[in-house]
Amino acid sequence: MPTTHAAAARDYVTAHLDDVLADLALLVGLETPSQRRDLLQAALPRIEAYLVGRLGEPSGRTQHDGGEHGDVLDLTWTGSGPAGHVLSLAHYDTVWPEGTLAQWPLRRDGDRLTGPGVLDMKVGIVQTVWMVLALRELGLPHPDVRLLLTADEEIGSRGGRPHLEEAAGDALVTLIAEPSAAGAVKTRRKGMVFADLTVHGVESHAGLDPDAGASAVHELARLVPTVLSLADRERQTTVNCGTISGGTGRNVVAGHATCAVDVRIQHPAEEDRVVAALEALRPTDERCRLEVSIDRNRPPMNPTAHTERLLALARSAGADLGVEVRDEPVGGASDGNFIAARGLPVLDGLGGIGAGPHARHEHVLVSGLARQTALMAGIVEQVAR
Ligand SMILES: [Zn+2]
Repeated sequence: MPTTHAAAARDYVTAHLDDVLADLALLVGLETPSQRRDLLQAALPRIEAYLVGRLGEPSGRTQHDGGEHGDVLDLTWTGSGPAGHVLSLAHYDTVWPEGTLAQWPLRRDGDRLTGPGVLDMKVGIVQTVWMVLALRELGLPHPDVRLLLTADEEIGSRGGRPHLEEAAGDALVTLIAEPSAAGAVKTRRKGMVFADLTVHGVESHAGLDPDAGASAVHELARLVPTVLSLADRERQTTVNCGTISGGTGRNVVAGHATCAVDVRIQHPAEEDRVVAALEALRPTDERCRLEVSIDRNRPPMNPTAHTERLLALARSAGADLGVEVRDEPVGGASDGNFIAARGLPVLDGLGGIGAGPHARHEHVLVSGLARQTALMAGIVEQVAR
């Protein structure tokens, strides 16, 4: 005796697969680079029209001004009980610049559907729609479903963060259909600290007057090993100096040098340790001046008091689908990091099965669409009990 109606939800979505694929084509066809408020603002009404077309008029609607980013759209569709809401948190921005579609339109190649943003995470928006349709079609009691669409997830969520934290605050559960890890959900994601090191030195002629200068490039080169030494393999803290630039010419003692540092952390205490160490960096040549600017981008996601219970719901829905739902730790962060760090119930990585987010081979597997949607429906069904 199955414990959920996930299999029936999968069959319902499979029967409507052409519509699901058409929905995906519509959303991927809207170019939504994070940095382009104009494109985001043009796309949002079309995304909303799509949502309303499929799910009907929402019972709640708020549009938050995104400032320099795209707006945040907060929609709620009334459920059939119990009270409360399930939050589906999604971002409609992608990492792909305008014009990508012209070279790389959505294309199906056997089981692979490839296109910019198809996996990360236009498919997650489509899954949310079909999850609700499946719950309705099967007559399954479900709480209100609130869909929050943010526009700056790929660039740190400064705009989206307060809204998603508010919406998740009293949700029964927050589901995030970010790319799955080959079908596995994600309960551990690394947090990120970004640091920009800027060294100001003193320029001089490298041949005529070398001692008059203080090289910013040399100073930065001396600092880099100290920065790299902040990594701690045992605690899963990694450090990457991603870019270095500086100087104006071979024969000039460099007056300027910069380095962009990416630190990934899993252990919450590591964030303060790393930030303190970065702030304590000092140049060895006193004539150089060092500026360190730090962005505590996202806290790490670690299992909370809710995680085991939520994983059990995913596993029982998966069992009804004949699949084993695994749980994979990943290095990449999402907005789920903010929610988990507050101890709130969240299940992340429920989105497409595929590969290549942020890469030219980004794709979802068509064969995974119904399964992942049904997994979400099976989870919501159990939350409603
Ligand atoms: Zn994403």
